[in-house]
Amino acid sequence: MRLQVVTGVAEFRAACDAVRRGGALGLVPTMGALHDGHLALVRAARERTAAVAVTIFVNPTQFGPNEDFSRYPRTLERDVELCREAGASLVFAPPAEAMYPTGERTRVRVAGLTDFLCGPKRPGHFEGVATIVTKLFCVAGPCVAVFGRKDYQQLKVIERLVRDLLLPVEVVGHPTVRDTDGLARSSRNVYLSDAERARALSIPRALSHAVRRFSAGERSAGALQAAAEAEITAAADRVDYVTLADADELTPLSPETVAGDRAVLAVAAFIGSTRLIDNVVLGEDAAPIAETS
Ligand code: AMP
Repeated sequence: MRLQVVTGVAEFRAACDAVRRGGALGLVPTMGALHDGHLALVRAARERTAAVAVTIFVNPTQFGPNEDFSRYPRTLERDVELCREAGASLVFAPPAEAMYPTGERTRVRVAGLTDFLCGPKRPGHFEGVATIVTKLFCVAGPCVAVFGRKDYQQLKVIERLVRDLLLPVEVVGHPTVRDTDGLARSSRNVYLSDAERARALSIPRALSHAVRRFSAGERSAGALQAAAEAEITAAADRVDYVTLADADELTPLSPETVAGDRAVLAVAAFIGSTRLIDNVVLGEDAAPIAETS
């Protein structure tokens, strides 16, 4: 299939309109530096739709002043080739001015779901995400949009904004794609040295232990969270949070709570200067590492 690369909003809208006249359009929003996780989303979108558009945009409004916006990996040419191989029909790679016209002042904010986990650690982040995703939905008009469960809080925010704004798009959450050692694929993994990567494995290891404890019957929120936190704290340079939370509302479970049938164990930690996030939904997801010692 021919792959069309467009940078202008009007051009992208017209290309998406043309797709929709012949069948369903799938959308996969990304910030580029594509890896197997992104490509799994493209393939999942392809299975559900006639044609898939991938957006590649390092969205400035979702980065804080001390975050990695300027050094975020940008590999457009390679990304386009990977999109072609994965079966996408369209790549939209706009310049920032196209998505944020001069004088713009509008933001989309989803209350409540952003009060915990990454919300307080990255002020304005989810507002930036919700705003850009809403804009992309407005331009593309996708029938289906696929997001990764690796960014679990982001997925919940997007599901909620679609519901609240009555947007006519089906949001699909795709399971986290991992390397064979269990580390979740991330564009930021390229920042890790070999030694840092070895320490980063404490995250999928701790999540795996929690999955096993949970399936063996452990339901003490405090015990599940404390064990994971101890394991990650021992290896990380800084832990932003290790939190067991309600899997839908994302409110933390207090330590004395008995965890229900589903609870999300979510982690954000720095290994060196790289901030990694990961999660498992206990009672739903398999252990990130099949066998742990
Ligand atoms: P990003 O380019 O990091 O903004 O991610 C774009 C999309 O890819 C988001 O929906 C992410 O949740 C998803 N994604 C990133 N890494 C993974 C992964 N390892 N597995 C599944 N989805 C992922």
